[in-house]
Amino acid sequence: MPERLLALAVLASRVPKEHESSGRIKEDCANRISGFAGEKRADFFLSEAKLRERPIVLKDVDVPGAGRSVQVDTLVLHPSFVLVAEVKNVTGELYFDNESGQFYRIKGGKREGMRNPEDQLNRAIGALETFLASAGFPVPVQGAIILASYNGLLQQAPITRPALTVDRLPLHLEKLEAENRPILSAGSLRSIEQQLSGSSFQKRDNYFRWYGLIWSDLSVGVRCPECHLLGMGRIHGRWICHGCGSPSKEAHLTALQEFRILFGDKITVKQAMWFFGSGIEVCRP
Ligand SMILES: [Zn+2]
Repeated sequence: MPERLLALAVLASRVPKEHESSGRIKEDCANRISGFAGEKRADFFLSEAKLRERPIVLKDVDVPGAGRSVQVDTLVLHPSFVLVAEVKNVTGELYFDNESGQFYRIKGGKREGMRNPEDQLNRAIGALETFLASAGFPVPVQGAIILASYNGLLQQAPITRPALTVDRLPLHLEKLEAENRPILSAGSLRSIEQQLSGSSFQKRDNYFRWYGLIWSDLSVGVRCPECHLLGMGRIHGRWICHGCGSPSKEAHLTALQEFRILFGDKITVKQAMWFFGSGIEVCRP
């Protein structure tokens, strides 16, 4: 499972609903879960492309931008092209209304507006082109909207970028390779990959910055494996749920995993006591 989805799931369960970012975190998490199957499908078709040169595929990329970084889910780096793939796993009849800039679907007779993937894609492309130019690689960036659900029927296509079904992704990559001359050497590609991969630490830090969170915003405690309530108590070497009374010997292991997803591999005794909800104040992990 992608790192970002795991982190969102932990945050969604540990940021109290009173926090101003709670709604956004839950929404991002739900979007990411519904998009996950589509991304898996797109990854499969990406690997099916018959290319002379093997591309580097990066997932969950944070492109440093002015102020806030821009998130790119799938980035394909190839000697002849750079492609941002905006994968959408949306069902229903899909419309890109180019007059209003709205993106909506009609499903079961109901019209539902959504974030416009074409705008998201153009923002990502702009940020990436700026970043690459500043890193010494002033190359054009391509983009494509990939419709990953077979139950999503494109009724009105976007104007500025191609939208294609996921099955056509290999063909699209093959076409990009055939139509473009090499612009990036193997060394340049590796350099770009390194600069964009970032460390896990930076990524984790980004989750907190994106949502305006500080570590003390999180609800701490060990989660009951039965009723999922946070805040089990430690009694006679076992965890006991304050809600349903269920005992557990290993509930803290899940909490440790959650801590690792948010803060990394190292944990001190004090930090563990804080995260397990012993009420001890510690410095930021
Ligand atoms: Zn319980």
